Amino acid sequence: MTSLATRRRFMVTTPFFVVALVAACSPKSEPNAPMASTTPMPPPTPATMPDAVPNTSPTATAKLPMVDEKDAQAVALNYVDNSAKADAKKFKAYTAGSQCSGCALYQGKAGESAGPCPLFAGKMVTAIGWCSSWVKKA
Ligand code: SF4
Repeated sequence: MTSLATRRRFMVTTPFFVVALVAACSPKSEPNAPMASTTPMPPPTPATMPDAVPNTSPTATAKLPMVDEKDAQAVALNYVDNSAKADAKKFKAYTAGSQCSGCALYQGKAGESAGPCPLFAGKMVTAIGWCSSWVKKA
């Protein structure tokens, strides 16, 4: 074997040995071990919570504004704040008696007059409202 072939083999195989050596010397992590942390994370506060996730806690929802039927999202979803105003001829999805409080997406508590709906983030819909995305609560 020539010295050129030996040098070529050395140059080809050395990186693999270095990678294997580094992998063998690095600390092993346990699959279910908790992540090490030197400083504990503070609990989230309203100021640190992301804006994309609306705060729908009971105290926060009391301050949420109501959806206006004229809002662009409300118009797009044919929202009415009283299901009696829903045009059953125009909206084939409407069935008599269907309203937000019976919708699977409604997040208000039973007996309350209004509650959050994920289709109107940051706002509340009336319990007797309705929109064309109504889905019967299971
Ligand atoms: S999705 Fe359901 S809860 Fe939300 S506005 Fe429409 S009917 Fe009401």
